[in-house]
Amino acid sequence: MAGFFSRGLRAVKNSSESDPAAFSPIGQSDHMRRVELLDSFEKAGLGWFWATDSLGRLIYLSDTAPEKLGWNVDEVLGKPLGDLFMAEQSDDPDRPERPLAFLLSARNSITQLPVKLAGTREEIWWEIAGKPEFDAKGEFAGYRGSAKDITATRETQRDAERLAQYDSLTGLANRHRITKRLTSTLKAYRNSKRTCALMMLDLDRFKQVNDTLGHPAGDELLKQVAARLDRIIGNKGEISRLGGDEFLIMLPDIDDRGQLGDIGSRLIQMISQPYSINGSRAIIGTSVGMAIAPYDGLDTDELIKAADLALYAAKGGGRGQYRFYSSDLKDGAKLRRQTEEDLRDALVKDELRMFYQPIIDAKTHKLKALEALMRWDHPERGNVPPSQFIPVAEDIGIIKQIGDWALHEVCRQAQEWPLELRVAVNVSAVQFAHDDFPQVVQRALQASGLDPRRLELEITESVFMGDNGRTQRMFEELKNLGIRLALDDFGTGYSSLSYLRTAPFDKIKIDQSFVRGATEEGNNNAAIMSAIVGLAEALDMETVAEGVETHDELQLVKNRGASSVQGYIFSRAIAHDEVLERLARGDLEYEPRGPAKYRAERKTVFRRVGLIHEDHRYRVVLRNISKTGAMIEGLLDVPLGTDVVLDLGGGQLAVATVRRSFAHSQGLEFEIPLISDGAEGFCTRHRVSPYEIEAAGKPLSALPQDAYSLIAGNSAGQSPRRFMQVDPHPPR
Ligand code: C2E
Ligand code: MG
Ligand code: MG
Repeated sequence: MAGFFSRGLRAVKNSSESDPAAFSPIGQSDHMRRVELLDSFEKAGLGWFWATDSLGRLIYLSDTAPEKLGWNVDEVLGKPLGDLFMAEQSDDPDRPERPLAFLLSARNSITQLPVKLAGTREEIWWEIAGKPEFDAKGEFAGYRGSAKDITATRETQRDAERLAQYDSLTGLANRHRITKRLTSTLKAYRNSKRTCALMMLDLDRFKQVNDTLGHPAGDELLKQVAARLDRIIGNKGEISRLGGDEFLIMLPDIDDRGQLGDIGSRLIQMISQPYSINGSRAIIGTSVGMAIAPYDGLDTDELIKAADLALYAAKGGGRGQYRFYSSDLKDGAKLRRQTEEDLRDALVKDELRMFYQPIIDAKTHKLKALEALMRWDHPERGNVPPSQFIPVAEDIGIIKQIGDWALHEVCRQAQEWPLELRVAVNVSAVQFAHDDFPQVVQRALQASGLDPRRLELEITESVFMGDNGRTQRMFEELKNLGIRLALDDFGTGYSSLSYLRTAPFDKIKIDQSFVRGATEEGNNNAAIMSAIVGLAEALDMETVAEGVETHDELQLVKNRGASSVQGYIFSRAIAHDEVLERLARGDLEYEPRGPAKYRAERKTVFRRVGLIHEDHRYRVVLRNISKTGAMIEGLLDVPLGTDVVLDLGGGQLAVATVRRSFAHSQGLEFEIPLISDGAEGFCTRHRVSPYEIEAAGKPLSALPQDAYSLIAGNSAGQSPRRFMQVDPHPPR
């Protein structure tokens, strides 16, 4: 037994003597054990060691590394390290690309440098570190370094970056990515003197979809919007969602405003087509603001601010428009804020009025009805048109009060008329979305005592958005009151004949944009108008052609069978007093008065511009302008055929020829037609480039109003002035 214990004891003792876990540090002098340690480190694949000679050739690489990469050690030894690996491609413009060989040739220490294995399709990434070695004489002897595989970490990092850069709902770039991209693009483009356009979009009525159909439907809608944007933009640029219903599109190398306007209109048109969302129908619109670098801004902040201002202006000018940035939009933004402020008080201050435009029988030219159109008599700004304040009222949430007031006012006034004429009131889709709308109408009828059969509500197609069942119920309730319903602005954006069959309309109003185009050659609006009229007749509905201004348009809409006509050719909207007077006189027949034909829009203006002839710049007054020409005043006796350049400001130079000349006024014809600025104005396709101004020795900046003078400098005035400058009427 004792032997057992002693054995046991010995065994215990022995084991304690040869205990491998016993503490025994590896000293600096213990070379063998240090090598062992490094060996096990290499074998475990925790990392590798490498060394190069003075010429950068690989002279050592841990065994397990070539194994893992599928290399033959003998093949790689002796090869320059710079050939085996590539340095990382960075997309940071501040850190330009340097090949690995270049980095090594500097003989500096390398730390945490990600490198990619060359010559494989598979992405293998190493992170290397190394120190230059110098021999006793101080000569460079190569690098000694370590490396580890970071392929997996990079992948997770990349996934995380992707998440951080893209919008998870739509898959579009997010704000972070687009601003980064824009910043690097603008920086790079500044050197190569390239241009980059930016479009900012904001959806109209998106909130309504969210509110009526719910957030999942809103999300689905955003996805469909993203897909439509992508279809139009394709590889021309990068689209991003900034959040909510705001999108930003970057379009490198486009500065032609004609081309941008076309893209803008197509975006608006596409976005305005109806959406089908889980069986419901949704209709939204969009407004677009555009700015172009370097003209409107040089860096990201400036350019985004410019696009934002343009968007703001587009929204303020009525919906579904695009607008280019121009320096006077800053005033526009101020105006809009002022409008918002003043509009809140307009009702209390009794500044709103109802005007009335006659609707005339197409055959007899007799007055059939009057449409009530709101006017805002602003104490300082005078008459503010509804296109400028109705959308604002919708945005700031006071359209319901204003709309309710209009209904009461119109019913009350119509009740004063000596004749039992019908009266039409416009109803915003936002008013229509309130469940108590039929009660509001009923109260207006009761309060005034107006016969319901005399009241007609004009609504636009946007009310078909959202819950079909709800819309149908609303129509029924309204029809039960005994009033009439008219579909307004038919032919704009998303016209669809399908809901005409189910909705109980008494009248379709064909939009003026439709009428306007119809007389132009090769336009099929006239044919479509016949189809609409045919369908309306079959469904027992009346048709009104809106916005008829000229005799040829009147003839056309009559030929196409429209039952009524509304437009300046018969009358503009008139004040209520005038209505009363006319009705009292019994003067019910209207005479068409207007131009024979529609002419390319000629906008009357009165502003100072520059006229450049030879090396002189004259100050002249612009009296009117159209796409193809302009009328100016301020120079005496300019011969016909003189070639000039009209400086419209903001770097807009239009080459023109004098076609008419009479004393101090000249008619100019542009060499290249102007294009629409998205609103009622015109602009040039191209502008003086800030790069040209820079080349003339001025600092690079966005275009000022007097951009041209910066290039021309004071070189002007070498030859005698050809024309005498006069000041006919100073601008009021
Ligand atoms: P709308 O209902 O389509 O009204 C017709 C518009 O076309 C009116 O503009 C009218 O003045 C204009 N117009 C009529 N004939 C001609 C023509 O021959 N040539 C041209 N160039 N224009 C013509 P207005 O009064 O500026 O109203 C614009 C829009 O504002 C209206 O379009 C309507 O949608 C809205 N609106 C006006 N009053 C009200 C209102 O009381 N409530 C609501 N919710 N919207 C209103
Ligand atoms: Mg109307
Ligand atoms: Mg209309």
